[in-house]
Amino acid sequence: MNTAQALAQLKERLKASDRMPLVFLGHGSPMNAIEDNEYSRSWEALGKALPRPQAILVVSAHWMTNGTTLVDVSNVPRTIHDFYGFPPELHATQYPAHGDPALAKEVVSLLASHHAEGDDTWGLDHGAWSVLARLYPEADVPVFQLSIDMSKDLDWHLNIGKDLADLRRKGVLILGSGNVVHNLRAMRWGGKPYDWAEEFDTFFASQLEARDLAPLADRQGMGNLFRMAQPTPDHYLPALTIAGLADAKDQLTFMNNSIDIASVSMRSFIFH
Ligand code: ZN
Repeated sequence: MNTAQALAQLKERLKASDRMPLVFLGHGSPMNAIEDNEYSRSWEALGKALPRPQAILVVSAHWMTNGTTLVDVSNVPRTIHDFYGFPPELHATQYPAHGDPALAKEVVSLLASHHAEGDDTWGLDHGAWSVLARLYPEADVPVFQLSIDMSKDLDWHLNIGKDLADLRRKGVLILGSGNVVHNLRAMRWGGKPYDWAEEFDTFFASQLEARDLAPLADRQGMGNLFRMAQPTPDHYLPALTIAGLADAKDQLTFMNNSIDIASVSMRSFIFH
């Protein structure tokens, strides 16, 4: 099934649901925020297919903390241009959504056993705003981020979201943004995907389909394939957190099942 077909089916199914879906998007290049391409168009279509959220909690690959998990409790999160060498148009892009300090503080409480803390110094990094600019271009849904603690191992990230599952019934969209395969050292513009990139991407998708997630957090078991796919795991962790939040009632839809620049998987998924 291609992305357009998957989204048409998803829209129908979501009408019957009483809780928000879980979404993970492969974000790739920051240019997707302003370029018209298959990815940016798919995000626009997804935004139209999703029920309108009360608020959005984003787990982005680009807010990395060490030894702590932070939740942005600011009133108006600033737009962070955390990249170099892109056109002025991208550096000038703003995403002026409001935050949701009350809900963010509730998230801090829900994650008490993970020692989460409120923070008002971050904002929205490009992992968040580059996709939100297409999903909700009016920036009229409150949004705030949750950081990824790089000192913790994969299983911790697979499990941290479970305490947030009830937020789905309160209209909160939990959105992960990263890439299932992300090796920028190996990227080749216009290049054919590497075998290891396709292999890991397929492995990840199969485990999700089988709802057998423990192998996805088993570094030793994944071995060299994982080290090639994710030399640093920052872009992988949001995918784990979103997958770990899903339960037996959720159905799974994939979109953008392709590998860009030979070593970045744009695979995205929705549990609903
Ligand atoms: Zn990124």
